[in-house]
Amino acid sequence: MPRGYTVNPLDQAARDTIRTAQHLLAPAATSALPAAARPALTDQEKRDAGELVSAGKMCAFCAGLHVGASTPACPRLAAGKVNGDGIVTEFSFWPDGQWDTSRIVFVADVAEDVDEDGKEPT
Ligand SMILES: [Zn+2]
Repeated sequence: MPRGYTVNPLDQAARDTIRTAQHLLAPAATSALPAAARPALTDQEKRDAGELVSAGKMCAFCAGLHVGASTPACPRLAAGKVNGDGIVTEFSFWPDGQWDTSRIVFVADVAEDVDEDGKEPT
């Protein structure tokens, strides 16, 4: 009997498991990331964010504030190349709505929070 034409029962079980897993994961892989709930910024965090914005520390790629701003760590970057100094020289973005913004503070978020409270910054 030619060996290449037989199906090992374990191979078939593995194929079934992989097919089931792919079926279960397919909807999650194609949908946009869910909006992660983030607690509101504290007054101190708003002040710190305002200082960073004033100092021009926003990320060059996403225009927000986050750890690793303007580096390959920016979650807006889908792919890119860095030079010998670790500077991103070529890059592509994730499409709008399909990247993780849960750890980024945007300038609009800071201003919006102040307006919602209706308080003057102290
Ligand atoms: Zn960024």
